[in-house]
Order: sequence, then C-alpha cells, then structure tokens
Amino acid sequence: MKKILGSLGLSILLLAGLSSCQKDDTVEQQNITVDGEFNTECSYVDSNWGPNAYINTYIINQTQTNLMYSQSSNIARLLQVPTVTLRFVHDNTSTSSTANAISYSTGKIYFGETLYRQALNYGQIVPVMVLAHEYGHQVQYRYSSVPSVHEYTARATELESDGYAGYYMRRGYGASWDEAGPGFNFAYSIGDYYTNSAGHHGTPPQRRSATRLGWYLGAYNLSATSFDQYFFYYYEKYVLPGNLRPVQKPKYIDDEIDKFISSKLEELIKINTGEISAEEFEKL
Ligand SMILES: [Zn+2]
Repeated sequence: MKKILGSLGLSILLLAGLSSCQKDDTVEQQNITVDGEFNTECSYVDSNWGPNAYINTYIINQTQTNLMYSQSSNIARLLQVPTVTLRFVHDNTSTSSTANAISYSTGKIYFGETLYRQALNYGQIVPVMVLAHEYGHQVQYRYSSVPSVHEYTARATELESDGYAGYYMRRGYGASWDEAGPGFNFAYSIGDYYTNSAGHHGTPPQRRSATRLGWYLGAYNLSATSFDQYFFYYYEKYVLPGNLRPVQKPKYIDDEIDKFISSKLEELIKINTGEISAEEFEKL
C-alpha cells in the first residue's frame, strides 16, 4: 500500500500513534494536526478520521460547495497564506467520524460533513467561521514568528485562531456583529472538535474574548504577522496576571489602534472572565 509521508511542520502534539490504525484520542481531538504518516491500509483518509471515511470536493450541494471554495480563496488572500487544498470528509457508516475539521501543516484543510451540517443548521455564517479558524492555523504553520506568544501552548494557538476568525468575519466576510456574535457562540458549542476539548481550545469565555479582540482588530488593515503581534500584545495584557499595569508600548503598536483597543479592554476583560455572559456577548 502506498504511504505518503507528510512534512513535519509546526509540532505541538503527539506524533506517536499516527502510524497505527488505532484511534488515538489525543490526536483525534487535536485540530492542529501534524501530518505524520498516512496509512491507506487502514483508512482511506488518514488516522484522524474513521476507517470508512472518504474525501471529495463536494459538500451538500453545489451552492454550499461553491461558497466554501470561494470563501477559502478570500480567507487565504486576507490572511496572506496560499489557498489550501480544501476537502470534505464523509462517512456513510458513522456520523461522529466526521464531526471535526482539521488543518494540516502540509497546506490542507479537511472539513467533516457532520460538523459542516451542524454548523449550517445554525446559519450560513458558521461553516465559514470554522473555515476561517482553520485558516488561522495555516498562518501559524506558515510564519515562524506566529504565534508570538510568550508561553507556547495549544490553547494560545487555538485562541489566536479564534482571533483570526473574528478578524476575517468582519474584514473579509463583512458580517455585522448581530450575525457574527450568535454565530461564534454557536460555533463554540458544536462538534467533537469544539466541545470535547475545552482544555486546549480555551474555555468558552476565553474564546469569546479572543474572537471579539480579533473582531475589533478587523477595523484595521493588518498583515497576518502584525495581527499576531497585536493580538498577543492585548490578549496577554488583559489575561496574564498582573499584566494590565502600564507597560512600555512596543514600537509596532500604532497609537491610533492602541487608543481604540484600549477603549475596549474593559469589555474584553469582562467577556474573558464571564462577567459578560454568552447571551450578552451576542448583543454587544
Ligand atoms: Zn483550532
């Protein structure tokens, strides 16, 4: 059987277990996946998906399919990464098998049909949000300076991807908060990908706060790498203990942007601590 060795990109989790056919829960729930080894003997797709899963370039109908491919190009352009190889994963024997979306370091995003349907049930905007989040990981794979977080954790990369999604939904997709706020809330509640892994994705309040920060940054035209610098400058400023004290503003932080984001810090803190609830978040 043919084996394809993927390149080892940004490694944040286990490589162990990828070569076997056994399900590895850690890898399965990790949506930033390092391609290790594809084993077509056991699974048509790869070991992150069920043994009977298969991929193609079609999701639900032609309208959905066309929309996703055009959004994919738009997101790539805005986030300054190459357009990924976007594929949809189906499984006629199991719905849970495809309740996931995976961003691969080799420039691919695989979007599971079950997750897609759950997202679409809420509204057209939600699958686009999921795709934008996965593209956030592509930025992290592509630029060695991203994420510029001090403590490198899976959670930081996940929250930053939520930030990129917030940025894109405002700046690229052109959503209003009335649409985007409830959409994001819903996105955090669906799929294996979202619910079973709060530990590494961040808690829902943290995710809402990260998204809202990305949304505010979407008022400005930022390069992919400068978005990252802004994102962590503010996120760490209000999240890390004791960090909210006045600190020397780095040169790369523009005065006007700083003035604007600083005026939103109180709200971002309240979202992050949960003082602003999920329902209130939707109505901001
Ligand atoms: Zn993610």
